[in-house]
Amino acid sequence: MRCVVANWKMNLTSDEARSFCESMLAQFTPKAGTEAGIAPPFTMLSLVSGLVRAKGLQVFGQNGHAEPKGAFTGEISMAQLKDAGCTGVILGHSERRQYFGETDAALAKKIQAARQNGLLPLLCIGETLDQRDAGQTLAVLGQQLSILAENGAGPLWVAYEPVWAIGTGRRAEAEQVREAHAFIRAELNRHLGAAAAQVPILYGGSVTPESFPELLGIPEVAGGLVGGASLDPKKFAELVKQAS
Ligand code: PGA
Repeated sequence: MRCVVANWKMNLTSDEARSFCESMLAQFTPKAGTEAGIAPPFTMLSLVSGLVRAKGLQVFGQNGHAEPKGAFTGEISMAQLKDAGCTGVILGHSERRQYFGETDAALAKKIQAARQNGLLPLLCIGETLDQRDAGQTLAVLGQQLSILAENGAGPLWVAYEPVWAIGTGRRAEAEQVREAHAFIRAELNRHLGAAAAQVPILYGGSVTPESFPELLGIPEVAGGLVGGASLDPKKFAELVKQAS
């Protein structure tokens, strides 16, 4: 299975989202075995899911809260994401870890809450440049994946996103991606056993239609989590086509 997910981050308004979806769907050629998804800001989830779900696309929240409801001003529960038309939720994006103090312990709870509400968790992991320079890349990835040991098997996608490659135009080298994805696959096998075979590993970080075909040729790269390039409907449709 190949997967391409558009992470819009804190971009676009409703009118822009509508135009994006209409333009993208006009060029969209989904094929069996390819999953495409969009992760819009919360305010556009219902709009986007209404436009794209019928065409077979997935819709992801960019974050969700682990608690089912209550006094958590500014947060959105997994049930509310589901209610807005989501099929999945991005968890542990490096911007959430870096700017909002997202911890591995909190993410373990969020994965469970997502599954309990029928949402597919898309767990993001990745090292900072300092960690890579210090030779800690695989240790960091191992630590971030260790929460899966206690979470058991269940629906899951993983995205390897080196923090230094996000939004920088500096994509990771093929050998760096190969090494990280092979390590992630081994860790998934260790934690999840046979169920690991169902977990695709996406690459994220400055993915463009120019770089995507090479990335897709690397073993264990099942697709992409795309930020900047996913704001252009033509580029996003092209990425889906490349993955098909
Ligand atoms: P980018 O973002 O494609 O703009 O580097 C990727 C991401 O943050 O998921």
